[in-house]
Formats: sequence, structure tokens, C-alpha cells
Amino acid sequence: MAFDETAALADVGRYFDNAATTPLDPRVLREMMPFLASDFGNPNSIHAFGLRAREAVELARQRVAFLLDAEDPSQIIFTSGATESNNQILGSFATGAYSPFEHSAVREPATHRGMEILANDGLTIFPPSHPVEVISLMMVNNEIGAIWDPGSFSHHADCIHSDVTQAVGKIPLALNGITHASFSAHKFYGPKGVGGIYFQDTPPKPMLRGGEQENGIRGGTLNVPGIVGMGVAAQIAADELESAFAFAQKLRSIVVEGLDGVSDWQVNGGDRSSPYILSMSFLTIEGETLVVEMDRAGYAISSGAACSSHSLEPSHVLTALELEDQWLRGTVRVSFGRFCSVDSAHGLSKSLRRVVEKLRTMY
Ligand code: PMP
Repeated sequence: MAFDETAALADVGRYFDNAATTPLDPRVLREMMPFLASDFGNPNSIHAFGLRAREAVELARQRVAFLLDAEDPSQIIFTSGATESNNQILGSFATGAYSPFEHSAVREPATHRGMEILANDGLTIFPPSHPVEVISLMMVNNEIGAIWDPGSFSHHADCIHSDVTQAVGKIPLALNGITHASFSAHKFYGPKGVGGIYFQDTPPKPMLRGGEQENGIRGGTLNVPGIVGMGVAAQIAADELESAFAFAQKLRSIVVEGLDGVSDWQVNGGDRSSPYILSMSFLTIEGETLVVEMDRAGYAISSGAACSSHSLEPSHVLTALELEDQWLRGTVRVSFGRFCSVDSAHGLSKSLRRVVEKLRTMY
């Protein structure tokens, strides 16, 4: 049976969990298909099959470099995604410090290497008191959408690493002062299991050894279909960045304004926040219950960071913000994307209001 792209995306309009992952754009799938079928060559082979794959990989590298505003495509290395990229970059340094808002894919390797956590007051992050080799600060937080300027820390460390996973393809990105960055394609309508590293001058130390691919910086046969998909996704994201940003702002306002008059709720994330991520806390309500009720109403939202929503631990991001327990427990994340619609944003807001009011009458 032939795959029907239109039917596959028919149900995506009520998907508001785009910070966890985005649907594969049909335009991306279309360009990937030959590399899953006929153009299967290994880009390291010197025959025509290999050459076709190599050309496609290098075009993808150019497209990704353009999206990231890198000076040269050779500053991009392909990996399996942001988790691998973060691990490899942090594994290249002996001393470092990281913000309390980092994703676990930064926190865990950083902690493992004995790196220190930076102090904060709300969303303000303080530099370390002594010099370190690397400071790791994400550009957009995946739970609350807060935006930081990692380059502003460049006087306090030799290198600045930024996990730009929630920023790339979404907000205008300036690498000023950033020496290393990590990202995943599936957050900007590319396939899962592929991503990359940007490095300014000094490549990170190899983590996967055993092959000369990517100039020996990352061994292993390249994921050609995935890389091609990420390249197309990067091109589309670059072309549509401004209109997509404005669309996300519009959807966000629809949801927030639709909740006008509901008592005891707040938006988290501060004044400088990505329009793609809306974190809200509702007093006296359990976030998980809200997610389940919204799912029953047909809307996919998240109770926090999707990667940790199976954990019983309170979110480290909301804890670092010193959100009181009663607010913390009632936190949900709505994240917008290309395939959401204005109508579904109105519908989501109405459902959210109805569910919150219903749950409150039950306590
Ligand atoms: N960093 C951030 C900020 C993320 O949001 C995610 C995905 N939740 C990751 C890293 C990890 O990405 P992946 O699972 O694709 O490796």
C-alpha cells in the first residue's frame, strides 16, 4: 500500500508537543526517499554510488551551516542528535560549569565530569567565580522557553557551549561568542536520530572511534537519508523562519488570551521567551491530570519536559526557578509548530479552560 502523506498529517493539527518532537515535513520525506531506496551508497566509497551519497551529504552540510549562520560548512559535524553532540563536546573539556536550566543531556555528562553548576537568581545566571575551560548554557529552554545569550559569558571561559536544540530553525540565531553548539533534526521537522555539532575553530575530541568519517571527529558510516532530511529541513526552516516565528506568536497569544478570566494560573519563562513554548502553571491542579484530560479531548500537550515526564522527580528547571510546590505540580507545556492551526489553538484554549474548571470543581 502506498504511503499517503496527506492522510498521515491529517491528525497533526491538535499536536501541541512540538518541543518534544515535530512531525516529519512531507517535503523532507520526499527528498529522503531516494536515499532510503536507490541512492544507498556509502559516502566514503569512491564509485558513482558513493559519490552521489557524498554530494548529498555535503549539500546538507551547506544547508545546515547556512541555518546556523556558520562561516563554513566544515564547522558542522553530523551525529545521531543533540544528546550525542552534548556528550562529545562536554567530554572534550577537563573543567567546566553549566547552567541549572540545562537538559539532562548536558547535566549528566557535565556532572559525570565533575563540572560545577552555575548559581542563579530566577532566570539570571551568574558566571563562575574562577576561570573554567567551558561554560555550557542553552539558548532556549525546552521546558519554559526562556531565552539566554550564551555568548555574553565568553569572558568567563575559554569556550562557550550552547545546546541550541530548541532554538535552531525557530528563533533568529547568532553564534556570537559561541564556540560549540549541539542540535537535533527532529526538533525542526527533520527525522529522528540525526543531528550535529557546530565548532568554531577547535573540533571536539572524538567520542566514537573506529572510522575516519567526519575527519575522524565522529566515526561510523554516515546516516545518509537522515542527513539529507536534516539538510532539507534546515533549508525550509531558514526560508520560513520569520513567518513561522510570527505564526507561533499568534498561536501563543490565542491560547493565553483564551484563558483570560481563569483564576490562579501563571505563565512561566519570563519576559524573553520563545514563542514556540508556553509553560503554564495552574494552582490546585496536577499537571499530569491536565495532560490526560487534554489527551481525551484530542490535544497533545506535555506535563513538563517530555524526556523527564516519566520521572517522579520535580522538574529541575522549575525547582531552579524556586516555583512553589503548589504551582510546580500544576505545570503544563504547550509547544507550537508549523502544522498547528489557528482553529486548533482556539480549540485547545477552550478545552484547557473547560478541563481546568471541571477539575477544580472536583477537589
Ligand atoms: N537538548 C534539548 C534542549 C532538548 O530539548 C532535547 C530533546 N528533548 C535534547 C537535548 C536531546 O535531543 P535528542 O533526544 O534528539 O538527542
